[in-house]
Amino acid sequence: MLKSSAISTEVAMTEQRLRCCVCGRDTFDATDYVHLELTAQHVDTRQFLGAHAECLNGVLAQGFTVEVHLM
Ligand SMILES: [Zn+2]
Repeated sequence: MLKSSAISTEVAMTEQRLRCCVCGRDTFDATDYVHLELTAQHVDTRQFLGAHAECLNGVLAQGFTVEVHLM
């Protein structure tokens, strides 16, 4: 799980898959699909993103990693 003071990110599997926000490809057959929910302080709305864990790991800063937990 990723955490920062301004944005909290939760990674979980979901049935409704979004296109990968990193590479732009479909994720319907991805085995490492992750669903990201972004929230910001003092704002009620939420931003949802989908991505391949592999793609996400490729763009995250050093020290941050995404793990996929099948549920
Ligand atoms: Zn991708």
